[in-house]
Amino acid sequence: MSARIIDGNVLSATLRGQLAERTAALKARGITPSLAVILVGDDPASAVYVRNKVAACEKTGMRSLHFSYDSAIDPATVFVRIAELNGDPSVHGILVQLPLPKQFDADAILEAIAVEKDVDGFHAQNIGALAQGKPRFIPCTPYGVMKMLASINAPLQGAEAVIVGRSNIVGKPMALLLLAQGCTVTICHSQTRDLALHTRRADILVAAAGRPKMISGDMIKPGAIVVDVGINRLPDGKLCGDVDFASAKEVASAITPVPGGVGPMTITMLLTNTLEAAERMQPIQSIPTTSR
Ligand code: NDP
Repeated sequence: MSARIIDGNVLSATLRGQLAERTAALKARGITPSLAVILVGDDPASAVYVRNKVAACEKTGMRSLHFSYDSAIDPATVFVRIAELNGDPSVHGILVQLPLPKQFDADAILEAIAVEKDVDGFHAQNIGALAQGKPRFIPCTPYGVMKMLASINAPLQGAEAVIVGRSNIVGKPMALLLLAQGCTVTICHSQTRDLALHTRRADILVAAAGRPKMISGDMIKPGAIVVDVGINRLPDGKLCGDVDFASAKEVASAITPVPGGVGPMTITMLLTNTLEAAERMQPIQSIPTTSR
């Protein structure tokens, strides 16, 4: 039996249509949701990600501001830019594309972004809020994964969820979100002794290790839902995930492809966070005065 494919492009198109409508409604009230994107250095993959984010913003009717810096830039210049954007009421979301060059303290840069404009959800306060079950911004990739699971009505309550990868931007927030939905969560990483022992128990398996095709069909429980976050470039230039799609789709009940799975959803959730930041920041409507 071949698994159902969870198509990130199709789901994204639906969600982006809804976002465009909400954006238009906000613009009619004089507020244009605006995202500022900061790119430092010349990493080609980062440049593509930033281009895609800026294009998606504009297609949805949002405004995007793009700031690019040479890799040798003094971090102080970027801190000054972030401070300016924090203070600019016409900017609702600020994103610094990672990774940053070596001279940067990435954590310090992320902490410099105002928490109410941190649309990536990487600020320690926003991660803390998520951990407490009161999220302000949910990090975009795990947020997109949750939307994909919801789109197929994945039964999460009481399910065994296994996440491969424990990064701050994917694995850890993913674990918090699945935990909040009632899953029993296991997080695997590079020191996990017997990875297959864990993955074979998973009703929900999320692969986010950045290792091409490391999860093969024989590591998957029959009927499991498999979400492949990994994006890896093979020597022939093609993209692949962390899951060996050909063998996995014969075992899983549902699976996300790479490309066309989690990738487009990540950008869609960035747009969602930006729109929600703008909606939250609208000026309080004047209270009508009662006639005396
Ligand atoms: P990181 O490199 O920050 O984290 C990778 C994690 O995988 C680490 O926790 C690491 O363990 C773990 N890991 C590595 N090798 C193994 C192994 N052999 N067995 C078990 N665990 C292992 O990556 P990210 O979290 O940033 O990204 C993960 C992948 O997702 C990448 O391919 C990235 O390109 C992709 N990605 C895709 C996005 C999308 O929109 N689709 C968005 C963001 C990322 P340890 O902590 O012990 O080192």
